[in-house]
Amino acid sequence: MDKPFWSEGLHFSCQRCSGCCRHEPGVVRLSEADLERLLRWADCSREDFIDSYCRWVDRGDGTENLCLREKKNYDCILWDQSCIAYESRPFQCSSYPFWNSLLQDEDWWAANAADCPGVNRGALHGPEEIEALLERRRREPYIVREKTGR
Ligand code: SF4
Repeated sequence: MDKPFWSEGLHFSCQRCSGCCRHEPGVVRLSEADLERLLRWADCSREDFIDSYCRWVDRGDGTENLCLREKKNYDCILWDQSCIAYESRPFQCSSYPFWNSLLQDEDWWAANAADCPGVNRGALHGPEEIEALLERRRREPYIVREKTGR
């Protein structure tokens, strides 16, 4: 099999522009591990946290994912000057931009670089680090339920 385009590693350093956390619609999916971490952060019950901070997003196949809510202006519900749950933030956020969807080929990576000023800049993240992030994603799948129409 051909080596992935990131086999020598990729450069990324967040420039803290907050572009991926606010202003535009987005979807932040949660795993059980994310939810448990956020429940400890919020110090509330699962039901209350889901009611206050979450929404179910249709996957188009009769199921839906548990995701963070957005405010009316599309800022993440956890955004207030900065991420208010930074140490407990979802793995989708902490592993960005080393996502399967962006690493599948170089064109996707390049397209993303146009949106994020941190991509292809700063620290070099080696292939072992990237593979470990992809492996953790496989171990921590997103929460899915049958679509209820609610
Ligand atoms: S868009 Fe990129 S540079 Fe800006 S906050 Fe998000 S990860 Fe950091």
